Amino acid sequence: MTTHRIRSRPPQVTTLTPVEFVTATERLAGFLNDAAHYPGGHAPAVVFPRNEAQLASVLWDASSVLPIGAQSSLTGGATPRGEVLLSLSKLSVPGEPTPNHITVQPGVTLTTLRHILEAAGKAYPPVPTFEGATVGGIVSTNAAGAATFKYGTTRDWVRALTVMLACGEVLDLERGQVHAANGRFEIETSIGTIKVPVPTYRMPGVPKCSAGYHAEPEMDLIDLFIGSEGTLGIVTSVTLDIIGHRPDIGYALIALDNETQAVEIASCLRDMSIQTRRTKERAGLDVIAIEFMDRRCLELLREGETHRRTKFAVPETKGVVLLAQVELLSGTTTEQIYEEIGIASSAVAPDTPIVRLCRVLGDKGLLEATELVGPDDHLRSESLLALREAVPEAVNRWVGLARRTVDDTIEKTAADMIVPFPRFMESLNLFRDAFSSRGLDYAIWGHISDAHLHPNLLPQAAEEVRLGQEAILACGREIIRMGGCPLAEHGVGRNPTKQALLRELYRETGIAQMRAVKNALDPTGKLAPGVLFKLHGE
Ligand SMILES: Cc1cc2nc3c(=O)[nH]c(=O)nc-3n(C[C@H](O)[C@H](O)[C@H](O)COP(=O)(O)OP(=O)(O)OC[C@H]3O[C@@H](n4cnc5c(N)ncnc54)[C@H](O)[C@@H]3O)c2cc1C
Repeated sequence: MTTHRIRSRPPQVTTLTPVEFVTATERLAGFLNDAAHYPGGHAPAVVFPRNEAQLASVLWDASSVLPIGAQSSLTGGATPRGEVLLSLSKLSVPGEPTPNHITVQPGVTLTTLRHILEAAGKAYPPVPTFEGATVGGIVSTNAAGAATFKYGTTRDWVRALTVMLACGEVLDLERGQVHAANGRFEIETSIGTIKVPVPTYRMPGVPKCSAGYHAEPEMDLIDLFIGSEGTLGIVTSVTLDIIGHRPDIGYALIALDNETQAVEIASCLRDMSIQTRRTKERAGLDVIAIEFMDRRCLELLREGETHRRTKFAVPETKGVVLLAQVELLSGTTTEQIYEEIGIASSAVAPDTPIVRLCRVLGDKGLLEATELVGPDDHLRSESLLALREAVPEAVNRWVGLARRTVDDTIEKTAADMIVPFPRFMESLNLFRDAFSSRGLDYAIWGHISDAHLHPNLLPQAAEEVRLGQEAILACGREIIRMGGCPLAEHGVGRNPTKQALLRELYRETGIAQMRAVKNALDPTGKLAPGVLFKLHGE
């Protein structure tokens, strides 16, 4: 039976040793920045709790804290502005997988999670690209990845959470047990009942959304904490769904003449894969992700040849490149793939996902322009993924160089926006117009299988950063009108442009509703103050 009420419990006391507390400047220095590289991070201390009692003692003593995982945030959400830094890195007990779940502490990284699951022949598929991220971090940002098209976002995989509230009491949440009723939840604590109002704004109907608090009329309480970016509670334990096998994934790197052709092929692969999942046909094509890199990305890769970790050649095209990940029949080898490519167009070809893929590519005259890599060719598949990752790395290098040589106020200026798939081309044109009409250089890549793009500015002057932010805001307004979300997977953090996009999405009334949730659960504004929105509307 579900209810809208839940009782909190006191923290477990497993040891009375004091929490590790670091104030030394040289050790603190390594924690004053996240992957957004905003300058000016400062904190009086970083603490490393190892259990609930130590964590609660920090919350009781400090006036403000910022929880951090691996600080791979791209939004400044893990950059301190004077709070005590609460590192979850020592809460890193991994747990043993059961057939369908694994329970881990928040400081466990995705690399560790993968190793544990691989050893048990299992997998957690919806991972974001950066494997150094922690489980606490991905839950708190509702991170998503390339494979959202098949596997959804982190939210879809969280079965249970333990969360410590700002008051130091603990909620053990299991999906399906606490649902909002009459627009609220009630949390009974030792000092009284907290009434938490449920926001009434409508979230955009797209597969990825990391834009403030989740809201639905009868929502599950667990969903309020997922994606709340550390502002409502500290995640201390996570139970994730897992799958009982490791899918065999092949890769197709497809060079295309233009973006229209890219959208056509992505659309076709998407439709076929949706059909396969519906019919559960064994030989059906099952694409889990399609990545998109535009012409400027390919130029950056060529220019940065010496920096690249991968020696996979950048395809010779003046157009764009798609990188599709395809789930293949278990045990498919590269040798088999090459045999099937050779006979794909003949009547004797077996009915397999690869043959179906080759026929689609052949019909569009793209087979010659495609590189296929089998699941057993680890070196080449890793190289292909590294080629894709070399794009953001090249942009980060560009921004770093501009900061060092042109103006030290230059910062990474990038969008993270998703639209319903039929509006993909419109969104691409929107980004191009917004950047080029302001005379800006930029590169666009992203997850075309979800119509989700990351347009990134290539700045050459500080003024261009301001123009880039203006372009992103203008695009965000249009993306919202298209039914999309201008904050798809990286969250909002402390980035002023992203906070402005959140206000555009839910208007001031929506922000006021989020503030009401925050005030109910954290009345003194102790947890991650200024992340998502300003606390008092100033
Ligand atoms: C190279 C690179 C690639 C990336 N690719 C992707 C991608 O594909 N998809 C994607 O979604 N993101 C991506 N990101 C962004 C980033 O990795 C994710 O946002 C990730 O979820 C952050 O995890 P973290 O452990 O580093 O958390 P942090 O950056 O330390 O923290 C992120 C936020 O979560 C809060 N937080 C952290 N731990 C807890 C906790 N235990 N309890 C409460 N709050 C907590 C923090 O206060 C902060 O607001 C990428 C980043 C990089 C650098």
